[in-house]
Amino acid sequence: MKRAVFPGSFDPITLGHVDIINRALPLFDEIIIAIGINSDKKYMFTLEERLKFIKDIYATEPKIKVETYSGLTIDFCNKKEIGFILRGLRNPADFEFEKAIAQTNRKLAPVETVFLLTSAETSYISSSIVRDVLRNGGDISDLVPKSVTRN
Ligand code: ADP
Repeated sequence: MKRAVFPGSFDPITLGHVDIINRALPLFDEIIIAIGINSDKKYMFTLEERLKFIKDIYATEPKIKVETYSGLTIDFCNKKEIGFILRGLRNPADFEFEKAIAQTNRKLAPVETVFLLTSAETSYISSSIVRDVLRNGGDISDLVPKSVTRN
């Protein structure tokens, strides 16, 4: 079974994440969207909210599971028998950052990281920009799925 994990903070999930997930669906038998819990990080949305946003989007998609985890992504992969880590690339900064993490993960475990290049329409979207717009009272409806704006 080709099982992938798409790890991230998803604070909140954006149309950029959704684009990567939807395009990865035909490549894998199962994709686990895994919200990483990092006690050092301050989040805008609670874990429950972030989980619900994602679960609402994929309620009728049997190939997608939504979970939370703490610790190393590769430990989560070992525990769940996951062979692939899915990540999105938007720009050279993403590439440099992701390259180091993927190569480290590859040293530590037999897990392949699969990168999908962002779509032109969503390449500018990031959770941090969404949070900035929100904090300043702007409209995020073109940046996030409906489950987030319904909140
Ligand atoms: P993290 O805290 O691990 O960076 P994020 O939720 O910000 O978590 O991102 C999770 C993954 O989604 C990362 O691989 C990131 O590059 C990717 N991603 C985020 N926004 C986009 C986008 N607009 N297009 C493509 N990939 C994206």
